[in-house]
Amino acid sequence: MQPISGLHHITAIAGPAQENLDFYAGVLGMRLVKKSVNQDDPGTYHLFYADAEGHPGTDLTFFPWAQLAPHREGYGLSTEVSLAIRPGSLAFWSDRLKRAGVQVFEVETRFDQRVLPLADSHGLRLSLTESESSLGRPFTPWERSPIPVENQIRGLESARLVERELEPTVSFLGAGLGFRKIGEEEGWSRYGLGEGKSGQYVDLRAQPAARRGAWGTGSVHHLAWRMLDESQQMEVRQRVAQEGAQPTPVIDRFWFKSVYFREPGGVLFELATDGPGFSVDEKPATLGEALVLPPWLEAERGAIEAALPELRDASLA
Ligand code: ZN
Repeated sequence: MQPISGLHHITAIAGPAQENLDFYAGVLGMRLVKKSVNQDDPGTYHLFYADAEGHPGTDLTFFPWAQLAPHREGYGLSTEVSLAIRPGSLAFWSDRLKRAGVQVFEVETRFDQRVLPLADSHGLRLSLTESESSLGRPFTPWERSPIPVENQIRGLESARLVERELEPTVSFLGAGLGFRKIGEEEGWSRYGLGEGKSGQYVDLRAQPAARRGAWGTGSVHHLAWRMLDESQQMEVRQRVAQEGAQPTPVIDRFWFKSVYFREPGGVLFELATDGPGFSVDEKPATLGEALVLPPWLEAERGAIEAALPELRDASLA
C-alpha cells in the first residue's frame, strides 16, 4: 500500500456562523477558502478555512449548528486540533489571543514542542504548536490576513483522540492506515504516518473511567486523511474494511472524493482525495467569497440563500 501522507482536513461543529468566521478569519487569520452548505443539511453552512490556496492538510472546516447543545466530553472523540506555527512565534500568538479575549491556557511542552492550548469561541479545544517540520510543508501565505506572513498558521499539525481503551484503535491505525508508534509521554501515546512530521501524527489517551463523549458545538466531527488519488482511496477503503471498519461508498464532495468510517473507538474518520481541490469551481483570487452549491442544489439556490444567515468577512473589508 502506498503510504498515507497525513491529515487532509479536520471538520468540527461550531455555534453561530458569523462568530466562527470572526474567530478563524479575524482572530487566527486563516483564509475562508470555501463557503458552501452541508450537503446532507443544506440549511447549514459548511465553512472551510485554510492557507491562501487551500492546500490539502491546511484545512479546518465547520458545520455551524448553533441549535445544538455543547458537546459532552468523553471517550470516542477527537478532543483537540493542533495547528502548526513557526518556532519562535508563540509569544506573538499568546499576546494576540489574550488581547482578543480568547481563552488561553498555560504553555506546555509536548514531545519537545512548545504548545499553546486555547479554546475557540464555541469551546472547541485547539492548540498552536511551534513546529519546525511545518516549515517544509507546502504553504501559501494569505496576503489579506491580519496576521504577518511569518506568524501565519501553516496547516494542521495533529489531533488528540480520547479512547475508552487504546488497543483496538492502535491496532487499527497500524494495520488499516499504516501508523507506527512514535513515543509516549504523560499518558499520551503519539502515533505517526511516514516520518511523523507536521500533519502526520495523532496523540491518543485512554480514559476508561470517562463517559462516552457526544457531538455538539465545540466538538470535532471527523478527521480526514489524505489520499493521493482515487486508486489509493479504493485500496485504503478495502484495507480498513478488512480491519473491521464499515466504510461508506465513495461520495463526491466536489472538491474531493470521500469515504467515511468509524475507527474501533468510535471516532469518525474520512479518506479524502487531494484533488481536484478548491479551485475547481472558483477563481483562486476570489475563493470563499460567493456561496458555492453542489450542482444538484443549484435549483434551490434562492431558498437556500434566504434561509442562511448573512456572513461578513471583516478581514476582506
Ligand atoms: Zn470531511
